[in-house]
Amino acid sequence: MGKIYDVGIIGGGISGVVIALELAKNGVDTILFEQEKSVVNGPPFCHLHAGGNLYPDISDEQCKVLMKQSIDMARLFPQSIDERPTFISIPKSEKYEVDKIEKRLEMLVEYYKKLIDEDPSNEILGAPKDYYNIYTKEDLITLTEQPIIKRPNSSDEWMSNAIKLIDYQKLKTPVIIVQEYGWNLFRLGAQAQLALKKTNKCKLKTNTNVTNIKDVRNQNLDYNWEIYSKNTLSKVKYLVNSCGFKTGKFDQSLHLNTERLIEFKAAYVSKWQPIAGLIPELVFHGERGTPHGMVQLTPYCDDYYQIHGMTKDITLFENGLVKSKGNEIPAKFNNDINQKLHRGWEESEIKIRTENAIEFVTKFVPTFKSATVGGPPLYGAQQIPGDDPSLRVGEVSFPCKSYARSEIIKASSALTVANQIINKIQEEEIIPKINTTIDQSLLLDSISKNEIDKLASELAVQRGYPEALSRLVIERK
Ligand SMILES: Cc1cc2nc3c(=O)[nH]c(=O)nc-3n(C[C@H](O)[C@H](O)[C@H](O)COP(=O)(O)OP(=O)(O)OC[C@H]3O[C@@H](n4cnc5c(N)ncnc54)[C@H](O)[C@@H]3O)c2cc1C
Repeated sequence: MGKIYDVGIIGGGISGVVIALELAKNGVDTILFEQEKSVVNGPPFCHLHAGGNLYPDISDEQCKVLMKQSIDMARLFPQSIDERPTFISIPKSEKYEVDKIEKRLEMLVEYYKKLIDEDPSNEILGAPKDYYNIYTKEDLITLTEQPIIKRPNSSDEWMSNAIKLIDYQKLKTPVIIVQEYGWNLFRLGAQAQLALKKTNKCKLKTNTNVTNIKDVRNQNLDYNWEIYSKNTLSKVKYLVNSCGFKTGKFDQSLHLNTERLIEFKAAYVSKWQPIAGLIPELVFHGERGTPHGMVQLTPYCDDYYQIHGMTKDITLFENGLVKSKGNEIPAKFNNDINQKLHRGWEESEIKIRTENAIEFVTKFVPTFKSATVGGPPLYGAQQIPGDDPSLRVGEVSFPCKSYARSEIIKASSALTVANQIINKIQEEEIIPKINTTIDQSLLLDSISKNEIDKLASELAVQRGYPEALSRLVIERK
């Protein structure tokens, strides 16, 4: 009789790998299935949403959750955090008010202080007093006269470099610099994969597509689920479905389908000319899905920049958001989107959409017109539980005994979900009670920076992206 694993995890995206790592730290035997060659290979992420400042419309509560979860993830994976801040602005054409954003930032500073009082190691975003800085029109005029700083060290220096490139006459003032950092998916994937291969508590099965699962909970066996892949059957006591937008496939086979949206989106890789000083991530707010949706320009090393433009010609797609009503049939994308997801993009569309994205940025950064296509887009589909497309925090659900479904919307929710699943597994007495007071971050910490550098760079190249995308603009001090 083959080995019985405590937990079987289907899907090695950020959610699945964090669950496997947390269980391994606690000595629980898991088997993790990922259909691709390497883990964290699904929809991309580039921004650590430590305060939700990219979303002017979400509730204060969601902002706080995003801040707390982002800090938790940054503590777990510090080597993937790019410590450059974010410039936030509202174009004069938009309805949002700077006052409201400022009030929310004040609230977030108080919340950040509280998190630090609870645990000083939460001070990941710098001192609370520096969490954000605001700049009036007069401040901006003064800063345009300051010299360019090659590697800025303060909010003023970041703003000074940025404002020389931005047509700020088009923006409401004040504008803001906030300590929301970059987040490197290649580095996180590399560290997670190396740690999972190192531990004897997780059997990592990449290149393994799970074709079916069988519920044997009523058969009085020592395990509850059978997981089938090409030629193998694996037996597990607890099943975690972390298949991202494909979770519906296994839900359907168990008649557990639920209401959810799935959304396809893309961000574009461009290459610009060298500029004299580093710039923060630049965000120009706008109404999502309209021709003046948000513009987000994310700096990487070697003059590469990633672009999100929240219009249907750039990041969003016609019919890119589809809905399942909780019946037995999971939502499906149309042929055009499926072609992109499963077989890749036509060169001509990469060119058109990346050029659209570059032009979109030039509305606010006129000299960006000299940028060119820098590589294939970063793209993918994600799920949103329920029917509200503006939801930014999704977590986990337990639709039946011994079964968890991960429903994260932002990569930052992965650790919260892992902890919720571990609690449930203990509650169901699949594993004994874990002593959470012991510091168990040894597994991830045992992976050296050199190892991460090397594998992250290989992953970027293997997936067809410039190697520079695997490096950090500003490494943690
Ligand atoms: C364009 C874009 C930009 C984004 N930017 C950000 C950002 O800046 N910050 C942020 O926090 N979030 C961002 N997100 C959201 C983030 O990417 C997702 O929340 C996150 O990646 C979801 O992780 P997951 O592990 O739940 O799912 P996924 O990453 O989709 O992982 C699911 C895994 O399951 C595997 N799988 C599926 N079916 C099977 C099967 N049958 N057998 C074996 N394996 C299977 C898949 O190959 C995949 O690796 C962005 C999303 C998009 C689309």
